[in-house]
Order: sequence, then C-alpha cells, then structure tokens
Amino acid sequence: MAYFGLYAQQHRGQESAGITTFDGTRMHTHAAMGLVPDVFDESSLQRLCGDKAIGHIRYSTTGTSALRNAQPLVVRVRGEEIALAHNGNLTNAADIRAELEEEGAIFQSDSDSEIFVHLIAHSMRNHTLEEAIKAACARVRGAYCLVILTGGRIFALRDPHGFHPLALGRVDNAWVVASETCAFDLLEAEYVRDIDPGEMLIIDGDILNSQQLPGAGEVPVRQCIFELVYFARPDSLVFGEEVYSCRKRMGIELAKEGPSKANMAIPFPDSGIYATIGYAQGAGIPYEHAFIRNHYVGRTFIQPTQGMRNFGVRVKLNPVHSVINGKHICVVDDSIVRGTTMRTRVGKLREYGARVVDVRISSPPVRYPCFYGVDFSSPKELVAANYPEKDLPHLLNLDSLHYLSIDGLLRTVKHPDRYCLACFDGKYPVPVSCAEQCAACACHAKA
Ligand code: AMP
Repeated sequence: MAYFGLYAQQHRGQESAGITTFDGTRMHTHAAMGLVPDVFDESSLQRLCGDKAIGHIRYSTTGTSALRNAQPLVVRVRGEEIALAHNGNLTNAADIRAELEEEGAIFQSDSDSEIFVHLIAHSMRNHTLEEAIKAACARVRGAYCLVILTGGRIFALRDPHGFHPLALGRVDNAWVVASETCAFDLLEAEYVRDIDPGEMLIIDGDILNSQQLPGAGEVPVRQCIFELVYFARPDSLVFGEEVYSCRKRMGIELAKEGPSKANMAIPFPDSGIYATIGYAQGAGIPYEHAFIRNHYVGRTFIQPTQGMRNFGVRVKLNPVHSVINGKHICVVDDSIVRGTTMRTRVGKLREYGARVVDVRISSPPVRYPCFYGVDFSSPKELVAANYPEKDLPHLLNLDSLHYLSIDGLLRTVKHPDRYCLACFDGKYPVPVSCAEQCAACACHAKA
C-alpha cells in the first residue's frame, strides 16, 4: 500500500524514494535514488515486512540530490527506533543545525529534515516521545508535514500554518495518511478529512488521538496557493478544493481579465491543461492541442541542473504542424518561473508558422523565492523578478502576455484568507533567517 501510495504521488518528487516498515519487533527500510518503480521491485518489497509503514519521495529544496538525503530517516534513540519522513522546508534550519553542531551533534545528511531527528532525540532524555516531538516543533519554523513511525504507532502532523496538505483516509479497517488524496483513490481508501494545521494525529492501531502542536490556532493558516496552481495532481482534493475545478476556475477568471482574439486556446501539457479548458470555455474559443507530450519524461524542474532542465523541456513536448500553421494562438500555462518553457515552446510555435502568439498565465508573476518547499528559490532565476512586466513579451518572444491577478486567483478558492501568496506578493508568513535568505540570494525577501 505504501508503494502504491508513493506511486500515485510521484509528481511530488522524483529524486529518491523510500519506505520503512515495522514488523512488531524491528524496522526495515529500503530507499534509493530514482523513481518509485525503479527503486522497488518484488524482492525489496518482500523484505519490507510488517503491517505498518511510512514512505517518502524526495524533491529537494534544500540539501543535495544524493542518497544520504533519501528518506525515511531512521535512527535509534534510547533503544527505540524512529523513522521520519518530511514534506516541506524549514526556515531556521541553518541556525538550529549550527547550534546542534556546536553542541557536538553529527549530521549524516545535509537536508533540513534531519534537524527533527536531532531535536527529538535531544528532548527524549527527559520527555516522552509525544512531548519530544512537540518540543521539536516548537523550535523549528517553516513548513512541515511529518509522518513518524515508532514502535507500534504512527504520528502524522502538519505545521500550524498548514503550508502543505496532509489527509487522513480509511481502508480495510486501517488508517492511512497521504499528502494528496489521489493516493487514496489508488488504494480504494475513503478520504476521511484533512489533518488540521497545527494538529498531531497519533495512530495507535485503530485508535486515533488528536493533539495540538505548539502554536496551533495562534498563527494564521497559510496554505500554499501554488499547490492549487501547479503542484498537486488535478484529481486530488487539496485544502478542501478539488484541484481540477479550481484550475478550471482560474482559466475562466483569466479569460475575463485577459481576453484574446485567438483562433484557439492551447496548453503546454500537462500542467496547463485544466486552466486552458477554463480559459477556452470562458473566452468561447476552441480548445486544441498544438503540442504532444512525451509521457516518459519527468517534470522539467525536478532535475537539478540547468543543462538537464533545458534538455528536459525540449524532449518533453513536440508540435503538431497543422494546428499551428497560420493561426492566431493563445497559449495558457499555469506559471512562468525561469521562462525556459515559454521561450523554447513559443520559439517552436513560430518555427511551425504561428501567426500571432498571445500568452495567458493562470497565476500572478512569480517574483519572490519560496522558503517553504517549492523549488524556485533563487530570485536571480525568476524572470518576473528581474524584468518589468512590460518587457516580458519582447524578452519571451510573445505578441501579448497577461497574468491572472492576485484578486482573480483568490476568487477561485473558498477561503481566500487562508493562503500563502509569498511567491507572488513577497509577504512571508514565517520569518526567514539570514542564513536561509543568503542561501537563496533572497535580496527581495521582505520577511
Ligand atoms: P519555466 O520554464 O522555468 O518558466 O517554468 C515554468 C513551467 O514549469 C510551467 O509550465 C510550470 O507548469 C512548471 N513549473 C512551475 N513551477 C514549478 C516548480 N516549482 N517545479 C517544477 N515545475 C514547475
């Protein structure tokens, strides 16, 4: 089940995958670099004995893409094995790490997630595990969804701002948790509810015990709007929104704000598809596919070096000549980050005879780095942070460009006051330490 759960959520990270199980006496772990089906085979799954498991797929925002950073992290503290998997990014990790190293801690990895393990181990000298986890959460700042496996219990928790999603489900009289509900669909599990921001659920067999983390209810809920714009799968229910419908509404709003006289609306598949459906519907123009996606290529960003990224963009999409030649085309995409996708794809449209290329983006310009777990960290790389909006059409070789406004984006969600928009407006809900800002060259951060 953990294997299939990871499989369904492969889009959330493609660098490494791992599962830890508990068989009643001891833990078993298998983790390696690569995609879920490459990391696990029949024999590695057979060795993962037990009836409790946690798993992780990694998308690095801090730390390098290396096996030592693969999760779950497994440690032995005072005779007890603890396995932990983290989604998110801590904003004061560098400061805490420096302090812990000063006190003699030896880190095995360079990922921020290992901070949790050290903090928990420290507090377990004179606290129960629950208390130690809460004490660790009181020290860290930033975004974290955690699943922790110890002995017979599984802890599932979400930071008080609730940056990233974490949902609870039920299958065959057992509890399951996952970042996205698309994992439950594959397991034929029933979605029960979201883990609340600031909630720690302790799953002990059939018994659920819900506790509050320090800071729960004291800070505003700030869910990552980019999960809805781009990151989550459209068939998931995230923050109480069906991602598919939400993206379609973004397209409808965009058609109102940025009309185009194009013959058709086209997406760059797959991420732009749902907003394009909404745009075409809102604008009353046909929806077409001018690019065919090679499904065997991963997401362009997740490969860490710029050289690999360019190659990824080229190999991913191929144009259809007859749809493009002589046409006035309106491309709808969910976001422009570095501008690589736009520049190369629009170049292809021109090469294949497009007469006019309008571009409409179903989110506002990404001008600020994310410190909470989405990988577009350096403002030096963000095209909208470095050029005025009026210069972007020329720079990207477009006839016109229109972004969805922040108000337009917020009109597409049920609870507009519960979102983090820092990548669009620079208002960071959690302060970012100097070390962390410097690491991302965040000269624009207004923490
Ligand atoms: P870029 O080519 O750098 O402008 O990136 C924009 C394209 O990548 C868009 O088509 C998005 O669908 C996708 N994208 C946006 N943000 C991310 C991200 N954080 N990680 C991976 N892909 C992304």
